[in-house]
Amino acid sequence: MPKLSAWAKKHLSLRPSPKKCPKDALPVLPSPRRPITPVSFATAACLLFQLPWDIRSMILSIAFGGSTLHMDLARQDEAWQWRGLVCYQYDYGSQLPSPLDPWSSPHVWNDACLQYERQRKFPKDNVGIMGFLLSCKQAYTEGIDFLYSANCINIQSEILLLNLPRLIPTNRLTSMTSLQIVIRAHWIEQGNEGPFLNLGHLRPILDNIITHCHSLRSFCLAFLGASDKYGRKYEILHGPALPMLDAFYRSKRLRDMRVELPAEAFKQVNTWKSIDHPREAPAKEWNKRSLWRCLDGEEPTVQYRSHERYPHPPLRLPLQDGEDDTVESDGYWFREGDEGPVRQYVDCF
Ligand SMILES: [Zn+2]
Repeated sequence: MPKLSAWAKKHLSLRPSPKKCPKDALPVLPSPRRPITPVSFATAACLLFQLPWDIRSMILSIAFGGSTLHMDLARQDEAWQWRGLVCYQYDYGSQLPSPLDPWSSPHVWNDACLQYERQRKFPKDNVGIMGFLLSCKQAYTEGIDFLYSANCINIQSEILLLNLPRLIPTNRLTSMTSLQIVIRAHWIEQGNEGPFLNLGHLRPILDNIITHCHSLRSFCLAFLGASDKYGRKYEILHGPALPMLDAFYRSKRLRDMRVELPAEAFKQVNTWKSIDHPREAPAKEWNKRSLWRCLDGEEPTVQYRSHERYPHPPLRLPLQDGEDDTVESDGYWFREGDEGPVRQYVDCF
């Protein structure tokens, strides 16, 4: 027996158990982190991987792309919980906005998939990629990249946006091409002067995206909670938020960008004076136009433009003599967003 216990001590010495994370700790990635995505494959590829890359990429895009995917980190049962689901705002038969009327695509500010999922009112759906990812190393390597690059990622969790590179591997952030985020204003108590609304978390969130999402081509940001039921408002139009977004656009040079302003700010933003480009069909109806934050000059301006090219930019205006009239404008679209809390009406009769 002593011999056996000596042998066990020598050969089966238990490693110290890893430190238990406190319950409140975020599920951050280990540092340093061992990469798990292989870079080369020693084994012979199956038939799928012998197809030319362009055909393979078409198959993977059709099979696993074209959706909006919610990625969420939230407190539940006194712990941080990851959640994800396919956005149900789009018809499952046609996951992308109609090419005939992309302006009719759903808004981000009123997307309620995650609330429905938390209340278990909506059946869980998934992209159906897990079986493929787990089938072999090469399938994982190609499939995981498609999951992030061929779908639009929707993130509403502020803690996730603030800690993006600590929670999501940087190679996945680099793969993202389309991103939707929600920014909620914070109420800050301030002594006798009452609470005020604060958007101080906007800059670090945008900085994370600038630093890590190098392939981003399409971006949508929705502001929420900029007014309360007492009529107090955050002055988005006159605060630092829009200049920050201008700088963000200029640093990323996106193919398309949209900002969903609180409804009241959207109505105040301009005088609604229409201007038309000769190459764009004149849009008479109010529902064929929207506001374009134009960053062509040194100072930003707002133009009331036809959104026939939406989500891509309208053509640059005003045109100078001899100037190429096919150049796209720099800037981003405003869409009407958060309507604020529902007003309480009192029956006087
Ligand atoms: Zn959704």
